[in-house]
Amino acid sequence: MIPALLRPVLALLVLLFAAACTLAPVAPVPPPAAQGTEATRADFNAVVARMRPVATQVCRARSPHLDCNFLVLLDDRPDQPPNAFHTRDENGRPVIAFTESLISELRSRDEIALIFGHEAAHHIADHIPRMQREARTGALLGGLAAALIGADQATAREIMSATATVGARRYARPFELEADRIGAVIAERAGFDALRGAQLFRRIPDPGNQFLGTHPPNAERLREVERAVARHRAGLSV
Ligand SMILES: [Zn+2]
Repeated sequence: MIPALLRPVLALLVLLFAAACTLAPVAPVPPPAAQGTEATRADFNAVVARMRPVATQVCRARSPHLDCNFLVLLDDRPDQPPNAFHTRDENGRPVIAFTESLISELRSRDEIALIFGHEAAHHIADHIPRMQREARTGALLGGLAAALIGADQATAREIMSATATVGARRYARPFELEADRIGAVIAERAGFDALRGAQLFRRIPDPGNQFLGTHPPNAERLREVERAVARHRAGLSV
């Protein structure tokens, strides 16, 4: 009974995770002159040309069991909100997608590089399967609890869906911070300035410190990048 019930729950969680990196629409604050002007598609292409091979190198070194051949997509539909995400295709090939509206919200190639590195890092650190494992454990525990209280199938599915989400979300924030650390190092190794890139965290809306929220507060992410860059520049492992 459980595997059949579990299938729709897990499918939903994959969708949730693919959307996990969504950057909420950036508040339209006019940038000060020092921050530069909006990035363009040419900037994006230039960043991808430098970041992709380095992301592949880091991926092969840290996770040799994975497919490290990143497919990079640009969604230029004008009605899409500012967004970047990582997912895998059905063969396990990593996909990184940016919407063009996100690029025009960014102020430097360093910012594009930091986001690219972050998305690549989710793949390198194997976050989707790790998240799915936590979700599956949560769902199974929920299913067990539902069986113990003699819940009907519909109630059991609701309980499992809730416990699966809790299981996955417990790890969402540590995964985001891990992706920030590894992503910052990839950006630095590709010759970008991750600290300049992290200025992004001063502009995007702060998700705050919500219980079981998927994203850490911006100040925490900024600190995480600063620490990772300091260690990397000192020749220490991150
Ligand atoms: Zn993320």
